[in-house]
Formats: sequence, C-alpha cells, structure tokens
Amino acid sequence: MRAFDDFDGEINRLKTLGRLRSLTPRRAEGIYLYTDHGERLCNFSSNDYLGFASRHCDPDRQGAGASALVSGWTELHQSLADDLAGFEQMEASCLFPSGYAACSGTVATLAREGDIIFSDALNHASLIDGCRLSRATCVVYPHRDMPALRALLGEQRRRYRNAWLVTDGVFSMDGHVAPLVQICDLAEEFDASVIVDEAHATGVLGDRGAGVAELLGVKHRVDVIIGTLSKALGAHGGFVASNSQVVRYLINRCRSLIYSTALPPVVVDAARASLNRIATTAADRQRVKSLARSVRAKLEQVVSVHEMDVPIIPVIVGADNQATCLAEKLRKHGFFVPAIRPPTVPEGTARLRISLSALHTDQMIEDLIRCMQKVL
Ligand SMILES: *Cc1c(COP(=O)(O)O)cnc(C)c1O
Repeated sequence: MRAFDDFDGEINRLKTLGRLRSLTPRRAEGIYLYTDHGERLCNFSSNDYLGFASRHCDPDRQGAGASALVSGWTELHQSLADDLAGFEQMEASCLFPSGYAACSGTVATLAREGDIIFSDALNHASLIDGCRLSRATCVVYPHRDMPALRALLGEQRRRYRNAWLVTDGVFSMDGHVAPLVQICDLAEEFDASVIVDEAHATGVLGDRGAGVAELLGVKHRVDVIIGTLSKALGAHGGFVASNSQVVRYLINRCRSLIYSTALPPVVVDAARASLNRIATTAADRQRVKSLARSVRAKLEQVVSVHEMDVPIIPVIVGADNQATCLAEKLRKHGFFVPAIRPPTVPEGTARLRISLSALHTDQMIEDLIRCMQKVL
C-alpha cells in the first residue's frame, strides 16, 4: 500500500541521516541504569530531579522517569508491546501514555499533508483531535453511512495521495458497532487505509476479546488498530498495533509518544497480567454480553435493540435537564447512571448511559430496570 511505502522512504531518509531511533529496553535502579546487555550506567537522563521516583523503597510506586525513547522503556514495556502485537495479530505494537494520546497522535502523524482523512461523525474526541492536528484534509461522513462515505470517496479520493478511513470500533456514547466489513471493502476499492479505535471493544467483543475487527472477521484487513489499556484491561495507557513500518514511523514521528513520559512499569505489569487473563475470561465476556441482551430486551421501548451484545446502552431523552433530572432520580434510588450531554453528544440528544460489567448481579439489573421503568 502506498501510504506505507511513504513511511519506508521517510525511515530510510532518517537512517541515512543517522537519525533513525528505536526503543531500547533499560532498567533503572536508583541512579543507575542497566541496559539489556547488562551494562551499568550512571543515569544522567531522567527527570527524577529530587530522586523521588528512584528512592521509593517500593518499586510499585516508581514512575518511568523519562520518555520511552530516552530511558523510560523497559523489558516489561517491550514484552507488553509484543504480547499486544500477538493478541491483535499484527507485526508490531507500541505503548502510549493513554488511549487519548494513542488516537490523537496516530491519526495526526500517519495522515500527512496531501492526504485525506474520512472520519465518522460520531468518532471519539481523541480521533477528532488527531484529525485537527494532522496536516491532511479532513472530511466528516455521516455516522455509519456507507453510501455517503462511498460517494465522498468517489468525489475526493483521486485528488489526494493517501486516504485514511478512521472510525471507532464501538461508538462510545451510542454503543453502535462500526460497519467494518463495508469500510474495509471501500478501503480496497479506493486504495485507502483503515484505522480503528477499539477502546470499548478490546477484551469485550470477538471470540478472543480482540475487538470489533475480530467480531466482524476483518482482523487481517484493518491496517492500524488503536486500543486502550484503561477500560476492559483495567490498567492505564494506550497502544497501537500495525505493521512494523507504521510502528517504526510512529516511534520516530509521533509527538504524543515521543514527548511524554513513558508508562510506569507497575502499570505495564498490571496491563500485561490483564492481557494474559483475557484468553481465559470468555465466561465474563459471555456474562456481560447476556446482561446487555437482557437489559436491551427489557428496555426495548426506550433503547435501540440493534447492537444486542454491546454493554453500552444509551437511553436518549433529548433535553439536557431531562437527562440530569432522571440521573438524579436514579441516584436517589442508589444507582449511578451518568447523564451525558452536549458537547459530548450532538445537541438535543442528551441521554442516560448505562455501562454494564460482568460484576453486576441479576438482582442489580432487575432493580435498575424496575427503577428505570418507574422514573422514565
Ligand atoms: C476512552 C476512549 C479513548 C481514550 O482512552 P484513554 O486510555 O482513556 O485515554 C479513546 N477512544 C475511545 C473511543 C474511548 O472511548
């Protein structure tokens, strides 16, 4: 694909200049740094000015002290990145300080001047900010509207060098699933690359919990997967999985990765433990899916019943104050169901947003439904 050939060109240019960088695992211990060949170096690279990070007796309270490219990248970071690449069935992966940093940085970096981005109207703010930061032209297509996307591609694609189709996998405020099969078909037809943000789907959807791309059988047709370690994985941070050219390019060019402190090792360790557990949590995935089905069935009068398995269930009420008033009533009965208002959602579509967890018991669900039926 042409976009990736461009990255090769840029990587070769950096190599010629002697400026190609890669992530090298290092381990900090006090004021010393140990390389993966066992070299001991006195560390003059950290931002740990007062020694707080290094002097914690408890390594579980240590920060990374520096960005990943300087000295914040450890064997643990590399192992998690390798595990994530395997999980996502991609060649390589890289960790980011947050999902927000991964989304905004990746879109802004990969889509360059002379390129065009097609972005779903309901994409998450982090992808929208990536579009805004990018030097590419950005076109917003109506939510999940494939004929409209097709028409826009037909009109505009040929005037640009590379085209990027950018979408949430699961839309966070609606619980909708992106039509990834059709998006991948259009990408093929119009020579475009697909970037999917799997924040709400990683660990939740698909047989192995590898997201919407797995659920819809397009794992090998999506070019770039972005995910978060902070939702179903219960830790913190973001990641990008793709081919090795893209990952190398991001490591060398992505500002939200290069210019921010790396994830603390303890967080990386927690995320890695969660990821290892994902394979054995099919029962929890099944549980949250069946809760989603049952809540949708019971609230069918007020919720969309299309995306049965998605554990995000919005009850759209319209006016801001109506949503907050309902949330307040539920709160009085002991339920916290947040009211989501503009600008997070479009004007006039304020809503209650129910997020389900495998920890909810049948009784809790029953009580919530009874209470909602009373107040709605
Ligand atoms: C939560 C979320 C993010 C941001 O992830 P963080 O790890 O919380 O920064 C990105 N995209 C979507 C769709 C999200 O829901």
